[in-house]
Amino acid sequence: MNVNNIVRKVYPKLTPYKCGLADLPVEEIKAVLGKETVYKLSFNESPLGPSPKVIQAMTDSLYNLNLYPSSAGDSIMKKIAEVEGVSPEQVILSNGADEMIILIAQTFLEPEDEVIIPKLSFIQYLAAANLMGATPIFSVMKDDLSYNLDDILSKITSKTKAIFLCNPNNPTGTIIPKTELMNFLSQIPDPILVIIDEAYQEYAVSPKFESGVRYLNEHKFLFVVRTFSKAHSLAGARLGYGIGTMEVIEAINHVRPPFNVNAVVQAGALASLDDVEHLQKAKALNHQGKEMMYEVFELLGLPYLKSNANFVYFDTKLDSDLIFQKLAEHGVIVRTLKGYGLDTAIRVSVGKHEEVLAFVNSLKDIMTQV
Ligand SMILES: *Cc1c(COP(=O)(O)O)cnc(C)c1O
Repeated sequence: MNVNNIVRKVYPKLTPYKCGLADLPVEEIKAVLGKETVYKLSFNESPLGPSPKVIQAMTDSLYNLNLYPSSAGDSIMKKIAEVEGVSPEQVILSNGADEMIILIAQTFLEPEDEVIIPKLSFIQYLAAANLMGATPIFSVMKDDLSYNLDDILSKITSKTKAIFLCNPNNPTGTIIPKTELMNFLSQIPDPILVIIDEAYQEYAVSPKFESGVRYLNEHKFLFVVRTFSKAHSLAGARLGYGIGTMEVIEAINHVRPPFNVNAVVQAGALASLDDVEHLQKAKALNHQGKEMMYEVFELLGLPYLKSNANFVYFDTKLDSDLIFQKLAEHGVIVRTLKGYGLDTAIRVSVGKHEEVLAFVNSLKDIMTQV
């Protein structure tokens, strides 16, 4: 008898979090590369860090660590509801957006269900479907690597339970234009859940971007996922949330562990939502970094996608592993997209000025030598 005899049936489809060089903590990357300076641009982390007001609020909260946090996260839940123009009963908190995705899957997915997932999108949707033993159905991308919503509609069957969308999309930075989103949602039959992951919505610059929150009144089974990990710089503290109709939130609350979100991040997130200036600073920094990158991609003649997030997708036109390796030799860590069957593409996070500078200078160096 070994453990394989007692794990769930779905076990062979599940994989532990992979740990390549791009996934290691920065201190470990330094050790592996034997370098003192490493620019980790593989995680889409905010280079700015949380605002001093957030640090203060979190520090203050430490004195009450003997107490359990508010289960529903009342204060932060109300604040989010106020910002989004929904009622507090339409908000639910999670231990990062990753947990929100798992909670949705645990609440709604059965082994006989099909889940439609865009081919080039965040990998956790597939992991969540697999966890529940549901069948993932992949939708193809358009030639410009944006979502093909017609293809998604054509893949709906009587078994379809959920559709995952990421807007702006990771790893392309593309968005679903609002007219397309509206048109798409109007064609979704009622019992199908549409989950829109808006982890990067704060960074969206296209006037065609629109949050799914606007459509909750018309679509009972629409659910929007957000996070404080990216623009709010709180990845290490873990806070995600969902916005949906009261019915859907109530259902997920049957599954959510009672104290899934710690008190420290609840305090920090509240302060972060109040510090609008700091968020503006993060967005401005991101904008400058993207422009620097675009300029160099143009110069080198490398195809890239204008991004609505804090990373940029580009095509090296060469084996991405080779470029990854050479960038790593310069201390710059990016993410290749081989797992998606894209052999020449790379996603690079927009770091702070010196990080972006290190990336573009290294890339120029490498590209003029290969
Ligand atoms: C980073 C990311 C998340 C995960 O966010 P956490 O709140 O840190 O779990 C979710 N969705 C997408 C698309 C992401 O890129």
